[in-house]
Amino acid sequence: GKVLVSGANGYVALWVVRSLLEHGYSVRATVRSESKGTHLRKIFASYSEKLELIVVPDITAAGAFDEAVQGVDAIEHTASPFHFKAEDPEEMNRPAVLGTTRMLESALAHGKAVKRIVVTSSCASVFNFPVPGKRRTFSEADWNDQMVEDVKKNGRNAHMYSKYCASKTLAERAAWEFVEKNKGKIGWDLVVLNPPYVYGPMLQEVSSPDALNESMQEWYDAVVKSAHPVKDLSEIGSEWVDVRDLAEAHTLSLQREAAGGERIIVSGGPWKWQDWVNAARKFGADVPEGDTSYDAATTVHLTRYDASKAARIFGIKYHTMDETTKDIVADLKSRGWI
Ligand code: NDP
Repeated sequence: GKVLVSGANGYVALWVVRSLLEHGYSVRATVRSESKGTHLRKIFASYSEKLELIVVPDITAAGAFDEAVQGVDAIEHTASPFHFKAEDPEEMNRPAVLGTTRMLESALAHGKAVKRIVVTSSCASVFNFPVPGKRRTFSEADWNDQMVEDVKKNGRNAHMYSKYCASKTLAERAAWEFVEKNKGKIGWDLVVLNPPYVYGPMLQEVSSPDALNESMQEWYDAVVKSAHPVKDLSEIGSEWVDVRDLAEAHTLSLQREAAGGERIIVSGGPWKWQDWVNAARKFGADVPEGDTSYDAATTVHLTRYDASKAARIFGIKYHTMDETTKDIVADLKSRGWI
């Protein structure tokens, strides 16, 4: 079959494209400009007959994907801004929400062969701000309306996390609402994947460490550049998934009947920055030791995710923190950045 992947030059999407090609799919990849497709063509040169590129300059335009959806059997919609620098929340909301609805509109109108659409959402659409001292495990039943409210009430002055997280929450809600509203008219079903922080080696071209994608930028800043005060390394954490495992989940989402109509948290487990520092040092990264009093066995993770649905539907064997770190360190070494 042929699969449309939007935002194909991104960190996650390049691994999604690679997984699809390795599993025998043909891929039609959307990028915003010809030049953003150059590297993609290069790294997948051995699959040139199976990879098509299509330029979609503005994913928010009416009919943006009308041409792109024609003749594809499935869609993986990953394109969405991920950074915490926006002043105006609309800078995030517009491409996140409209980009998603444009894709679904085009699929409805012109995607005659489309059987399944996978939207890359996030745990950003699931969690809430942690309450000090209170542990909470989030599941697919939870929605991050808290940060949508923050943005509604405070606009530009909303918390920096709220702008990104609200854009993901609103985009995911828009996708489910579209499906509900067009029940009976659509020939496809929806799968939504909700990953926490995504880490792992990169396939994308990165000009300098300042140009890393958001999640790898944070990893690099914390572990390599020691950007946090030492005591915070044993405090700050969340959950994570290896980028290659998330890519596999995108492929499995097309193959597992049971994924249809489901929102699925895909998470490998919790972390604190000190865990990554310790692992990086183990694999030869010359970085400061951080908080030597840290004890991984007793540290408290306030925010956890229940990933049992993914285990049931996908049964992925997740990379361990050691495996992922080893590959990140090798990647950063090959770029001369560590
Ligand atoms: P990247 O920044 O590497 O990739 C983002 C992709 O989306 C790029 O192709 C980018 O295109 C495109 N994009 C961004 N803004 C716009 C816009 N305004 N209009 C059109 N296209 C746009 O990030 P990731 O690969 O990490 O993110 C991919 C998806 O995964 C996103 O939906 C993100 O929310 C989700 N996700 C990521 C996590 C992570 O930790 N990395 C965690 C959870 C979810 P261009 O290069 O042209 O800007």
